[in-house]
Amino acid sequence: MNQAQPTGDFDGLAALVTGGASGIGAAIAALLRDRGARVAVLDRDPAGAPAGTLLVKADVTSDEAIRNGVAEVVAEFGALHTVVGNAGIGAIGTVEDNSDEEWRRVLDVNVLGLVRTARAALPHLRAAAAERPGAVSITHTCSIAATAGLPQRAAYSASKGAVLALTLAMAADHVRDGIRVNCVNPGTVDTPWVGRLLGRAADPAAERAALEARQPTGRLVSADEVAAAVAYLAGPAAAAVTGTALAVDGGMQGLRLRPA
Ligand code: NAD
Repeated sequence: MNQAQPTGDFDGLAALVTGGASGIGAAIAALLRDRGARVAVLDRDPAGAPAGTLLVKADVTSDEAIRNGVAEVVAEFGALHTVVGNAGIGAIGTVEDNSDEEWRRVLDVNVLGLVRTARAALPHLRAAAAERPGAVSITHTCSIAATAGLPQRAAYSASKGAVLALTLAMAADHVRDGIRVNCVNPGTVDTPWVGRLLGRAADPAAERAALEARQPTGRLVSADEVAAAVAYLAGPAAAAVTGTALAVDGGMQGLRLRPA
């Protein structure tokens, strides 16, 4: 489907995608590259990043590693216009199941990881926005879990609720800098993450069918479909769009279907 997207609308722009070596992040990095951006992938394990991207090995739980990574990207590309905060981890359980340590880990990666990334990138984004009005943005990969009330996902849902609020607050704080801030809220996306989840299930085929049935469209979302939404939010066509959460969830959030 990437071939059907417009090309060239990211020409001359430099992008950074965290968690861009797998799943949704890799699809985003490949699409931004195909549409003309120079793309850096910051990942704790960057080996799986798409060809033609600059690999930056860094963990988003380290402020120093992110600062060094962003500095490396700007030194290589000369500027930074597009930041996609996508690195994230899951946690399964209710509030009774997960320890404080597990909660801290999820919040550290999923929420503070975005804060650290933005803190390191903002001075460069501000400078870029002065030269390319409308073209500078931060886009977060949030989740339907921010608003859906999913069972067995207390820590993960709380982290994504924080990502949604963070996105809106950052959009307000930086709108006058010319920096747009938005997020995508995917439903269940067919990525290695979900593959790992299914691998742990007693009956993987039945678990996959249950995940598919949870989405009104009756199928999982593809990573390319999420990437297309991110490219829209980050691209020039969305120059008037900031403080928005775009659901890419097979209708999970918006539709209330009667049982068949
Ligand atoms: P994935 O596991 O396939 O890829 C995640 C990537 O992030 C990996 O390359 C991993 O190395 C990297 N990463 C993880 N922790 C990191 C850290 N501390 N520092 C640097 N890199 C790190 O997962 P995915 O399914 O592509 O998920 C990507 C994002 O999408 C996450 O934020 C996730 O919460 C969100 N999301 C996923 C789904 C889904 O169903 N897969 C649904 C909604 C939202």
